[in-house]
Amino acid sequence: MGVEACDDCGGQVGDSAETCPHCGSRANYLRRLQPLQEEAEKKRRAEQEEAEKKRRAERADAEQRKWADDKKKRLAAEAEKKKKTGCLIAVIAIVVLFLAAAVSSGGGGSSNDRSSPFDRCVDLQILHGSGGWAAAGECAHYKD
Ligand SMILES: [Zn+2]
Repeated sequence: MGVEACDDCGGQVGDSAETCPHCGSRANYLRRLQPLQEEAEKKRRAEQEEAEKKRRAERADAEQRKWADDKKKRLAAEAEKKKKTGCLIAVIAIVVLFLAAAVSSGGGGSSNDRSSPFDRCVDLQILHGSGGWAAAGECAHYKD
């Protein structure tokens, strides 16, 4: 234990005494305490910063997780949509093919029964109305 001069009265005061035995000043005690207080304050701030950093990291982590989760959901929804669209396109393609096949294989009748030149002329007459021929007999392919 050492002795130092009182900041206020200059008298000798123990370096661990809280008050000066001469004037009762706490100046020396407070001065000694200050670095400790600063140290404590620094430590408190560091801890606060650390806590804040941790909170930020956790928040960023949560956002990252949320983002990844959203992305996963979005991709799943898109895949589902694509699948549905693909199904729809396949169905439409099948229907179109079916219709095309139905049209090409007859158009109302059976093409096998109406494949002679005369039959084609009759078909044309039907298609063109009475502006084609007055009678089926005018067709070069006409036969009884
Ligand atoms: Zn003093």
